[in-house]
Amino acid sequence: MTTLALAPDAAPGVLAAQQQAYADLKARGLSLDLTRGKPSAEQLDLSDGLLNLPGAGTVASEAGTDVRNYGGLDGLVELRRIFAELLDVPVAQLIAGGNASLTLMHDTLTFATLFGVPGSTRPWGQEEKVKFVCPVPGYDRHFAVCEALGIEMVTVPMTDDGPDPDAVAALVADDPSIKGLWVVPTYANPDGSVVSTEVARRLVSMPTAAPDFRILWDNAYAVHHLTDDEVHSADAIGLAEAAGNPDRVVMYASTSKITFPGSGVSFMASSPANITWYKKHLAFQSIGPDKVNQLRHARFFGDAEGVRSHMRRHREVIAPKFDAVVSILRDRLGEHGVARWTEPKGGYFVSLDVVPGTASRVISLAKEAGIALTPAGATFPYGNDPADENIRLAPTLPPLSEIEVAMDGVATCVLLAAAEAATG
Ligand code: PLP
Repeated sequence: MTTLALAPDAAPGVLAAQQQAYADLKARGLSLDLTRGKPSAEQLDLSDGLLNLPGAGTVASEAGTDVRNYGGLDGLVELRRIFAELLDVPVAQLIAGGNASLTLMHDTLTFATLFGVPGSTRPWGQEEKVKFVCPVPGYDRHFAVCEALGIEMVTVPMTDDGPDPDAVAALVADDPSIKGLWVVPTYANPDGSVVSTEVARRLVSMPTAAPDFRILWDNAYAVHHLTDDEVHSADAIGLAEAAGNPDRVVMYASTSKITFPGSGVSFMASSPANITWYKKHLAFQSIGPDKVNQLRHARFFGDAEGVRSHMRRHREVIAPKFDAVVSILRDRLGEHGVARWTEPKGGYFVSLDVVPGTASRVISLAKEAGIALTPAGATFPYGNDPADENIRLAPTLPPLSEIEVAMDGVATCVLLAAAEAATG
């Protein structure tokens, strides 16, 4: 990869021009925010039909149970069937839960810490040390769950096809304290990469020193396409089974960025042994999920095609915002060699790399000019980006007009920080 830096002979001219541009930017008194990976109100409106569902008098599930009552730990089969098709997993191996897949991930690791997983010789919490492999840049909340549970994190680089499989395989082969790996297989947060079938096959079949090694396969953006190229996620659970490691993969997903993040439905899929294990522990926590919410989601979508067409409406709202981010970065920074960015085909983020050592400067310059960016280091474990170069941009929430202004301002800050670095 080429090193990002401003050409020394260009630096004084860029510095003078961008100091002026930055003074003008600050004078505008902006208050803009590119930090939050949330759907916009316009996107939430797409699911307002849910607010009238399942409708007065509609209380029976397909199986004839009263959804208002306790029970049904697996979640409603009519909704699980829709998402089993979308996630390419058997219905019997998919459970539907509450509104946050993060809860399922946290509980998986908490149960593992307290009780161990199938294949463990003791609870993870009784091991001297437990480590997880974290591809970087990655999702800050994955890292936060590990940190909260005392799981040490070791990093590997991301590639265009997901986590670098050679780096992962080398780490896990000899170290039995490495119990797992985070993967966001489709349109990763933040770099938008998609795990190829080849990489998936390697990850599910590589030898691991830990017999109870797990891949937490967080397919949060499985159906969140931004182009006509609607990629199909690799079938990690099927591949793991074929490789003789049926219990290695635990998949997660949710409707958070399909319907309402505050009141959606989460999903978890894995081998029969893992699902039985999970439900055994879940049963002490809950008598059953919110089935009224699950029923209204099932009625709202109808079938898997209903979800796909709903996501195309999301795309109509957000694809222009991503296009604006990318075209402004290209126009303002393309010729200077000071930044590299992703052009994602789906998901919620654009990952921007700037001149090493300047990401925190860019973020503080932007902040002073009234543009909030995700804190430096947020995409790395312990908030520590060793090269201080990565910035996560989240363009879905603000209106297009604000994104254009904010991104132009970000470009000014990137150039100014690069010029400062080049001129010492
Ligand atoms: N996983 C990834 C990769 C995410 O980016 C997010 C939200 O940004 C989540 C999970 C959160 O999912 P949920 O709302 O289902 O807890």
